[in-house]
Amino acid sequence: MGANLIDGKAIAAQIKDEVRQEVSALKVQGSSVTLAVILVGDDPASAVYVRNKKKACEAVGIESVSIELPADTTQEELLERIASLNAREDVDGILVQLPLPRQIDERAVIDAIDPAKDVDGFHPVNVGLLAIGEPAVVSCTPAGVIELLTRSGVEIEGKEAVVIGRSNIVGKPMAHLLLQRHATVTIAHSRTKNLREVIRRADIVVAAVGKPRMIGASDIKEGAVVIDVGINRDMETGKLCGDVDFDSVAPHCSAITPVPGGVGPMTIAMLMRNCCELAKKRNPPAEK
Ligand code: NDP
Repeated sequence: MGANLIDGKAIAAQIKDEVRQEVSALKVQGSSVTLAVILVGDDPASAVYVRNKKKACEAVGIESVSIELPADTTQEELLERIASLNAREDVDGILVQLPLPRQIDERAVIDAIDPAKDVDGFHPVNVGLLAIGEPAVVSCTPAGVIELLTRSGVEIEGKEAVVIGRSNIVGKPMAHLLLQRHATVTIAHSRTKNLREVIRRADIVVAAVGKPRMIGASDIKEGAVVIDVGINRDMETGKLCGDVDFDSVAPHCSAITPVPGGVGPMTIAMLMRNCCELAKKRNPPAEK
């Protein structure tokens, strides 16, 4: 791997190791960590994500409770399931795999999860806490990006950061996290004028758009740090690619994440960490 490559797989493995140690320390004290995962319907991509999350739980010693519901589940039924998981003492984190079937309102489902068990950090209470700079459960992908930056020694304070994309899951929480770490943050999106000029100002670029290789070498300031959140399928080769044209951009960056193997592995690692943190809050370690 090149000297400027940020190795998401290695950093994710490190975080999972740390979580594994914390989970076993909790076990010694008699507390276990449990993640409940709800999957509604039979979307194959969602099934793969859920399977990977369960595998990751197993690898770090987190118990998982799996609830698989048919595609015609009503919103009411799903909300009842969530209410019962909210009430269960042994459940620390609740994750509802998105997207949900059409008859179910995602917002209502997210709002129904107890914010203290909201392992994805999507509940408005956690989003609000993040926005005012208070401790919050933070959406896993942007939290993972911050870990990639800090563990690679990238300084954030005082830097010009441009986040491309303003989704609730990635772009907006990403911007808040960078702001908290004292970057000067610009959020760009589909209506941004002169996007390429905006990106060229950035010391740190986070691309979270979902457009294969839309960012090229001429868009990037020499020496910038480039974090590619995008996961796209290259129509010609069938392979995964990011929003950044890695081959042409990499020689101009001081650090860059590949796709795959960059941000992707961090999302699950941060999910494990969030779950462990929620468990610790619910069962604080006994005073020594
Ligand atoms: P969304 O589709 O929710 O958001 C995409 C954002 O990109 C929107 O804000 C949109 O602007 C903006 N956008 C679209 N086209 C352009 C354009 N031409 N120029 C500038 N901005 C544009 O996607 P997500 O945030 O959920 O995901 C983004 C990417 O990250 C996807 O490829 C997704 O697969 C990937 N992803 C990867 C994860 C990982 O673990 N690595 C986790 C989550 C997502 P507007 O708001 O104006 O429409």
